[in-house]
Amino acid sequence: MIDKDLITRVEEAKKNGKRIGLVQGSWDLFHLGHLRYLLKAKEECDYLIVAMDSDEKIRKRKGPSRPIIPEKERYEFIKLLPNIANEVVIKEVDEPKWNLIKNVKPDVLIVIKENYNEEDLEKLKEYCKRIAILKRQSESSTSDKIRKIILSSKGEQVKKINEEIEKAVEELKQRISYNSDMPEPIPGLIEHLKESTDKICPVCACVYYNSEWHYGSNKVDLNLSKYDIENRTELYYALTEHAEMNLLKKLGEVKKLDVPFYTTLFPCDKCMKVLIDKGVKEIYYLEDHENKNWSKRSHELAKKHNIKVEKLIKTKTSVIEESRDMSSYKYIYPPNARTQEQLDIMMRLENEGKDPLSIDYIEQEIIETKKYWYISKNRFPYSGAELQFLIISKYGIYDLNSITPEMWEELKEICIELSKEYNIPGGAINMRFGDPSYSGATLKRLHVHLIKPKEEEKVKFSIGGHKELKKELKLN
Ligand SMILES: [Zn+2]
Repeated sequence: MIDKDLITRVEEAKKNGKRIGLVQGSWDLFHLGHLRYLLKAKEECDYLIVAMDSDEKIRKRKGPSRPIIPEKERYEFIKLLPNIANEVVIKEVDEPKWNLIKNVKPDVLIVIKENYNEEDLEKLKEYCKRIAILKRQSESSTSDKIRKIILSSKGEQVKKINEEIEKAVEELKQRISYNSDMPEPIPGLIEHLKESTDKICPVCACVYYNSEWHYGSNKVDLNLSKYDIENRTELYYALTEHAEMNLLKKLGEVKKLDVPFYTTLFPCDKCMKVLIDKGVKEIYYLEDHENKNWSKRSHELAKKHNIKVEKLIKTKTSVIEESRDMSSYKYIYPPNARTQEQLDIMMRLENEGKDPLSIDYIEQEIIETKKYWYISKNRFPYSGAELQFLIISKYGIYDLNSITPEMWEELKEICIELSKEYNIPGGAINMRFGDPSYSGATLKRLHVHLIKPKEEEKVKFSIGGHKELKKELKLN
């Protein structure tokens, strides 16, 4: 992990009588304080090694919003400072503690007091001749302010992303009708999905390896411009570390990964290639973007390499695509819908778990509310009707058996009152009941139509339903 050439160069410098100094930091948003610190460090030695934490190392310690400046730039920046760093070394996340110090054994280790406790300082003396403790260098006020602004806006961004991820996770749970009794690794996948930072399409992958579950989630590079991040429509590889890659990275050196691979979203073709190379033979997934080209390519790859791919749960959307059982709706019966507009309203409410005839959700005028029934005007009156009232059961009653004598009594009173109040010389009271494929009802909650026809016109009140949706209508 430590570059051998680095050690050779340092040994060479030591031989030439140079005092070796080592200073470490993340050097993110380099400012005057950093520069003063490096200048002081340089004063302590002849050959200065500047160590710099990698992006991942910083992220692990300070959270997903850091660093602000990616490691390539930070590296270049320090390299370009004239007559300061003889070496710039990037410290990776998986290096053992004090690895660089132990390997370089500097003559002087330059530290800021706040970063080490007394005990550590005592132990560190084993690996270097001397420790120079510097005071924290004050920051210039302007750059300090800018730092604060950038950090808080990043923090805002991260907070917003976390909220959106949570929402996306909830939506996935809905789509797969998630419940916590589902077998592992589904609950684990859902839980770790929250670690994603890609709000557009959070993904989580996992494997059971070395007797424990390992999870990886997709990560957006937050150093990219907000525009680039938010205007993606596909899961661009360059902008996002895919969950599969994140997981493999966490597993470290694995020669053969011959265990079932689980993911919330079917892998893209690029990830599929890597998984095939790693020896994965079975892939289980919760969802798929099967209409995307990358998914089609990925499926082809899997087929070609005899990889078993299997969807873990049937999602709601795919159930609808495979023509849903029409009697499975709770409040509505789509085959009897007359118009697209009517069907769209009904479907929207049904999908929100709302009964379109509930007094709380009905989207037409309520004329009067009684003890057991409430009265409304039909938004879609039959042709030939001058008046068409709906008398709807207030307390979600769906079958004749549930109508009590008091309800029948109140219904009779309502009909008499309405015909008096609205001057109805004659008309009809109609109520469908039972199986809608027989009754012809579109809404399941019991309701009565009280109809006054126009003079000398016919109103057809149809009884008798359908099994299939009308050809010209579509379930949106
Ligand atoms: Zn991928």
